[in-house]
Order: sequence, then structure tokens, then C-alpha cells
Amino acid sequence: MHLSDSVQYIKGVGPSMKGKLSRLGIATVEDLVSFYPRRYQDWTKITKMEELRPDDEAVIYGQVADMRKITPRRGLTIVNVLLIDGTGAVTLVYFNQPWKGDAFRKGTYVLAYGRIEYNYGKLQISGAETEFISPDELPSFQKLVPVYPLTEGIRISQMRNMISFALDHVEDMEENLPVETLKRQHLMGRLEAARAMHNPKNWEEQKEARRRTAFEELFFMQAGILLLRKKREKQVLSIKCAPSGKLVQAVREHFPFRLTEGQRQAFSDIEDDMEGLIPMQRLIQGDVGSGKTAVAALALAKIVENGYQGALMAPTEVLAGQHYHTFQEFYRGLPIHVAYLSGQTKTKDRNEILQGLLDGSIDVLIGTHALIEKDVVFAHLGLVITDEQHRFGVRQRKALETKGGCPHTLVMTATPIPRTMALSIYGDLDVSSIRGMPPGRHPVKTYAIGSSMLRRVFNFMGREMTAGHQVYVVCPLVEKSEKQDLASAVAVYEELKDKVFPMFQVGLVHGRMKNSDKERVMEDFHGGKINLLVATSVIEVGVNVPNATIMFVYGADRFGLSQLHQLRGRVGRGKSQSYCILFSDNHNEVTETRMKLMCEIQDGFLLSEKDLLLRGSGEFFGYHQHGMPDLKAADIVRDLPLLEMARKEAKRAVDGGADFKEELSHRFGGAFFKRLYEDE
Ligand code: ADP
Ligand code: MG
Repeated sequence: MHLSDSVQYIKGVGPSMKGKLSRLGIATVEDLVSFYPRRYQDWTKITKMEELRPDDEAVIYGQVADMRKITPRRGLTIVNVLLIDGTGAVTLVYFNQPWKGDAFRKGTYVLAYGRIEYNYGKLQISGAETEFISPDELPSFQKLVPVYPLTEGIRISQMRNMISFALDHVEDMEENLPVETLKRQHLMGRLEAARAMHNPKNWEEQKEARRRTAFEELFFMQAGILLLRKKREKQVLSIKCAPSGKLVQAVREHFPFRLTEGQRQAFSDIEDDMEGLIPMQRLIQGDVGSGKTAVAALALAKIVENGYQGALMAPTEVLAGQHYHTFQEFYRGLPIHVAYLSGQTKTKDRNEILQGLLDGSIDVLIGTHALIEKDVVFAHLGLVITDEQHRFGVRQRKALETKGGCPHTLVMTATPIPRTMALSIYGDLDVSSIRGMPPGRHPVKTYAIGSSMLRRVFNFMGREMTAGHQVYVVCPLVEKSEKQDLASAVAVYEELKDKVFPMFQVGLVHGRMKNSDKERVMEDFHGGKINLLVATSVIEVGVNVPNATIMFVYGADRFGLSQLHQLRGRVGRGKSQSYCILFSDNHNEVTETRMKLMCEIQDGFLLSEKDLLLRGSGEFFGYHQHGMPDLKAADIVRDLPLLEMARKEAKRAVDGGADFKEELSHRFGGAFFKRLYEDE
């Protein structure tokens, strides 16, 4: 039997079982043997009967005090086995399995596993799994039994049997990791590990098996990434820029501030890339407010200086619009022609822009998704920048990149992740991190509050507004329903406007508003005509109003930590002390932990690390987006040290000439593989 064989070859699998397995994503023998247990029943942890509670899944150990077979009516037999352990009693119940009773002779010692039920004042287990173990055997009895996430119609025992059968009969589960790697990292063999994943003798063995299995996944993921990189490095198609000259220098001097060390370093990385032989593919990660826009402005100036065009794509209308204004400021008086394109651009203006892009009179195009439309054609696109890249799919990013021959690309994100992880996840991107903030930023004081504090907070907002400051009130996202989002924002708006703050100007902005209306409101807020702005999360990115000192978030528990951090980044941009107030009436443990982290941590890098640990890699944004294979045993977050080892080993192998073609084509498939082995 081979790994690629259909599960039909497994004993006992007919068309019906095949269908059920396919619902679990299992089609081949390989899928089956890599369908790892969700957890294990630990038969070594025995609970005293007096400590049992209904619904516990427990192992008990006792002696048979009584056994009865009863037939309450025709066609129904019940076996009742009474077990006692000196602290209490539990009845094992079996329906319609009369033969079961015979083994339970009075005085026999029984180890039993099952879910505790409470029935007329007595504890019982239906259908318990049992072992007959004498007290002197007990200390050496070790057993971990796999438990699988199942679908309806597959019994756990069937799953165990199918997997055991596959593991016993598979012929081609050969070692796929390099032998030296196995030795250096003290890893179990492949087949041995697969067996031990499903039927470990003890926790020690389970741990080693998981380590090997996770390592293997991470190893091939890294190998794929490294090979992709190697391939890219061979394509010498770069637009090789000259060392930065007058124009770049002029933009630099034109900034109303001095670059921070982090910004300088990031731009220096970019210069090296753009002056090199390989097209730049770089990720700039930096906290909200760390000044990524200025770095982008320099990079765009550099490409223009070299006679090419640049494009900057942002995920929202508001953000793109703001960038446009910022760039007009940055480039004022310099020979860089900036244009703005969004879905809202009028046809006439649009046509003019398209013309300008074609004849090369427009140097830099800024906009939303509208940039990737087919008829947007550049004369000579040399640099593509994507802001807040986690909001875009890889496909959208690539779509923009294909508008140039082989342009330099830069992606920017304000949800930073640890460097090693970034290197691994973003694969073929190089990473620059802007740590540290422009000078003069005060940390934003952050508080988590519930209803009881609401009055006081409103009073406080009133005082801040009286003092001339401005306030954001952000309303929660209601899952999957933009309508409800809106309803809650409108309700809050009306309440605040009519009842709480009738003496102030209260404004409302949300995603469903017409663009021109949105812009007018934002402008009024920017200009100080509006004191308090109620918003859905449209303001999450890119709004810059230094006079705003309070960010109040309703339903803060419904936002992710990164999102909350982004929102918080909207204030603290001026000279005055700013505040972020997180309102939630949800007091469960997770919420409390998250709120506590927000109150204590200002550093976005640290916060995102914590966020990752809290959420686990399951929800790790962008992982699948980047075309990475499924991880079944490994966890990108928890296994970070293992990931680093795997990366080192993979690098050694790839540098030594290995291409793992078969293994990788098999694992990655799809788009990623195409990028790797097919020539564009
Ligand atoms: P982000 O990294 O979140 O995109 P921005 O680029 O929007 O941050 O910058 C946030 C604010 O900081 C802007 O108002 C910008 O003008 C300002 N800024 C950027 N760099 C510096 C600097 N080196 N010194 C002072 N202020 C800066
Ligand atoms: Mg930004």
C-alpha cells in the first residue's frame, strides 16, 4: 500500500466510509496517517471515585462488587457492573452487549475510561473502555489512547483501526529528511514518528514524535521558501538604481522633521535593494505612527529619480486619500507629479490619469484597489508599494506588481511580528523593522472600563472637549453584518449628540457613507469643526488629527489586540497627553487578559507577540494568504524555536544543492509551487 493510494485500500473502507472520511479531508493513505489525534486519553491518571463529577472524562480503578444482566423488555439487555474503590462506587453500563458481562467477575480489578454520567443519584459510565490490570501491574501500566476530531458516522474505534491498518501496511513511508539533519537534531525516523503520534507508549515518546513531525513540516516549508528566494535571485532583471541623488536628498530635506534611526535604517535597506541586481521584495514593519509613510516617500522619489514611475496602494479610501495629501505636501515644489485614483474617481479625471500614466507625465500614482484594474497601464513602473499589506491578498499585491516588468516591491505593515516569524511567514520577503517612534510622543494612557465608569468617562470627555481637544468614539464590529455595525454606530451617535453632549458638535462617519460625505466629515473633524467623531472601524488606519486626545472604543472585546493598538495610534499624535479608553461589559478571562495587555504594553511589536500567543497560529493572518502548506503538527507561534532550527537545516540542505522537488510539489501544490518550478 502506498501513501498516495486511496483510502479505499484500507480494510473495511467502502464507498460510504470513503465519503465520511472525505468530509474530514481524508482521501489518501497519507491523509489518514497524518490525521493526528487532537488529544490523548491518559490512562495513567486515575481519579478517585469520590472526586468524580458528572461530565468528567475520567479513568477510574476499582474492583467489581457486583455484575448483573437485566432484560427490561424484549430486545434490550443491559449489563450493569458495579465498581468500588474504597472512596465511592461507579456503575459501568453496557447496552445490548450481554457477552460483555462475563469478564467482570466479582473481585476483579478494572481500569475504566469514559464520561461520567449522573443517573438517579448514582455515578455511571456508558460503554466504558476497560482494561483488566492487577494492582501490581498498575504502576508499570502506561497507555495513551488517541482521540480524533471526528465527523458523524465514524466511531473512534473505527478511526483507530483504519489508521493502525494504514501504518502497518504502508510501504513507501521512507525517510524524507536528510540523514545528517536527523542526526544533528536527534529526530525520530519518519515512520516511527507517525506510529508514535497515533499510539505513543508514553508522553515522552509522544513529545518526541510530535517534535519530529512538526520539524518535518517546518523544514519543508522553509525549504520551499528558500528555494523560491534562490530562484528569484537568479533572475537578474532588476531595475538597477543609481545611488540616491539630488531629488531624494531634496525630499529628505523637505520633511518637517529629522528621520528617526529606524526610518534611516529602513530607507538604507531599501537603497541597497534598489541599487542591487535583484528586484527588491521588502517588508517594512513598524508600529502605528513610526513614520512608514516618509520612508515610502523616499523610496518613490528614488524610483522617480531613476526615470521610472511608482505606485502606492492603500486598503481604504480614507487612508489612500490621506496619503495623497501627505505626498503632495512632501513633494511640494519638487518635480514629482503625484496623482490619485480610487473607485470614486470620476470618469473624466480617470481618463486623464490613465493618459498621464501612459505618457509618463504622472510619476507617482496613489490609490485604492482601483490601481489593479486592467486598464490602469503604466509607461514604466519601477516600484510598487502596498500599505497595510495584511489587508490585501497576495493576489492583489501581485496584480499590481505585474503592471511593471519586474518592479521593486515594498510592503508595509503596522501589525509587526517577531522577525524570525516574519522571515518564515512572508517567505521570500526581506524584512526591515522600524522600532522606536519619532521623538516627542507621549505614551497613550490606556484604561479598560465597564458600565459603572461610563458617567465619569463622559464627564472627562466633556472636559477635554471644553479644553479644545477632540474625541473619537469607535463602535464595535458586529460580526458579518455591516447593517448592524451601522445601527450601533447610529444609535451611539444619536445618544451622544442629543443626550450626552448637546453642547458639542458630534459627527458620524461609517463605511457605507458616500465618499464625498465621508470626506466632508473627516475634513470637518480635521479642521476642528467637529468635537467628537463617532465612527465604525473605517478610521482604523491612517487618520491623522493631532488635536484628538481621546480614543474611546465601545465593545473593545470584539476587536483584536492589533486592531485596538491601531485605533489607539490615532491619538497621542500631538503635544497633549492622550487617552485610550476601552469599554467592555464582557468580563470573561480572555477579555480581561487582553485588556490588561493593552493597558500595560505600548510597544506594538511586543503586543503582537502576545496577541499571537493568545490566539495561536490558527488565526495567524496571512499565513494561508501567502500560499503556505497546511501545518498539521506544527504551530508557528508555539514552535518558534523549532522553526528556527528547521530554517537552519533547510538552508544547509538547499545551499548544498537539494531541491526536494517531489516532496515540495506534493506538499505545496498550487500557486506557490507554480511560482517555484514553473517559469513565468
Ligand atoms: P505610520 O508608520 O503609522 O504609517 P505615519 O507615516 O503616518 O506613521 O507617521 C505618523 C506621523 O508621524 C505623521 O504625522 C508623520 O508626519 C510623523 N512623522 C514621521 N516621521 C517623523 C519623524 N522622524 N519625526 C517626527 N515626526 C514624524
Ligand atoms: Mg501608515
